[in-house]
Amino acid sequence: MNKLVSLAEKLSDTHSLSVDEYLFLLENRNEEFALYLAKIANRVRQAVYSNKVYIRGLIEISNICKNNCLYCGIRAKNASCERYRLTPDEIYDSCVSGYEIGFRTFVLQGGEDFFFTDDVLCELISRIKKNFPDCAVTLSLGERSRESYQALYDAGADRYLLRHEAVNSELYSKLHPSNMKQENRLKCLGELKEIGFQTGCGFMVGAPYQTLRHIAEDLKFVEEFKPEMCGIGPFVPHKNTIFRNEEAGSVELTCYLLSIIRIMHPNILLPATTALGTVEEGGREKGILAGANVIMPNLSPLGVRRKYELYDNKLSTGAESAENIELLNQKLREIGFEIEISRGDIKGE
Ligand code: SAH
Repeated sequence: MNKLVSLAEKLSDTHSLSVDEYLFLLENRNEEFALYLAKIANRVRQAVYSNKVYIRGLIEISNICKNNCLYCGIRAKNASCERYRLTPDEIYDSCVSGYEIGFRTFVLQGGEDFFFTDDVLCELISRIKKNFPDCAVTLSLGERSRESYQALYDAGADRYLLRHEAVNSELYSKLHPSNMKQENRLKCLGELKEIGFQTGCGFMVGAPYQTLRHIAEDLKFVEEFKPEMCGIGPFVPHKNTIFRNEEAGSVELTCYLLSIIRIMHPNILLPATTALGTVEEGGREKGILAGANVIMPNLSPLGVRRKYELYDNKLSTGAESAENIELLNQKLREIGFEIEISRGDIKGE
């Protein structure tokens, strides 16, 4: 316990550990220390964001994707996936209803769908920003060229989420087909940051072949990349992928990592993901208690929600649904937090 505590202190003081030190924290974790770490994470988050939780309206704009990430339910080769694509008007209308509910950030996420060219996206982004100047637009549309990212930024997009998925290149290549290059993913992340996006990286917890050392390397990457946002959630198997019989990642380890990342980067925007709530009832609340400060309820049109099935049983109803933010707020109040209606930008260091 002593060495664990001294590493927690070192992380709080210097915001940096070596890969081996992160690995020590992971390999030697226990319930008592996890609680201790969550307490520090809470204190750190409280100092920056008090008890406020930011919400984002997640609009899943298309499940058409040219890629074949081995873990993902909407991979191109999944012939059983019922495909859909929202029109720009439908996406805009989702923002209109989201605004009325109280959302001030819209996250446009989707597969790598050729329909969404720079022209289509730029027009849509400008329209949203013009009519909702007090809102932020976040994109999560995969790998694009630098010119494309620049055009989207110039059109008014504020943030971009692109999980790095795995910084260990061997692991990366076990989770992706050979035409998907980790090098390009990391290049995209660098460019997003240079262009000026608030940038988010991240990874799945408990993915097939992933070891604790891989996770320690991911933590070091998150430390050094200094993203404004970091999305981590448990891996959940999807029935139409080769990983269908693999075990899901754990809520316990995900929450432990959320605490570490909060202490590493006190100001970071850290979502308690849908996957966390899917793996275990109350998982998202546990994520908030561990140090997360963002929740992204589903704001997609009701008819398509079920179809954006990244993994089995993905939640999109109840407190996961944008229409029910009162229910979400109630659940958050029960644990001492509450929703803040705002863009929810990262607070300055
Ligand atoms: N096309 C976009 C959005 C991908 S979906 C992109 O490439 O960034 C968003 C995230 O969902 C992915 O980055 C991945 O980490 C996660 N995801 C995909 N399949 C998953 C699964 N089976 N279990 C848990 N998370 C998954």
